[in-house]
Amino acid sequence: MNPLRELYQEMILDHGRRPRNRGTIDDTPHRADGHNPLCGDRLSLSLELDDDRRILRARFTGQGCAISTASASLMTEAIEGKTAEETEELFRSFHDLVTVEGGEDHHPELGKLAVFAGVREFPVRVKCATLAWHTLRAALEGEETAATTE
Ligand code: ZN
Repeated sequence: MNPLRELYQEMILDHGRRPRNRGTIDDTPHRADGHNPLCGDRLSLSLELDDDRRILRARFTGQGCAISTASASLMTEAIEGKTAEETEELFRSFHDLVTVEGGEDHHPELGKLAVFAGVREFPVRVKCATLAWHTLRAALEGEETAATTE
């Protein structure tokens, strides 16, 4: 299969064009900005957490390529309802998926996120796909922080 075709699958295109969970949550300390200088992707993520550090809502704004936008969209869907610790595990699985051959076979918990497996054929695109996750990690730390893929 043509890896490019695999990369630009239907779901990535759909989420890139019509991202879910766009917006901003006010009055939360859990927010961060992310920047991928290699591609120019920028995003701002804000989270609403409960007392157990479970993510109740995740919203993002920003400008970026289809991969970074789709990744942020699918990530916000995947993390709602999960604890900070659970999302950290999911990030590790996702990182495996986009960097290790056959990663999707070892991480069924990724669900829809497995559509990004094709990204590993394009090392430059890995940063587009992981920007939202780096930003998530910064937002969970709670301070006004900036994440970068560099
Ligand atoms: Zn990008």
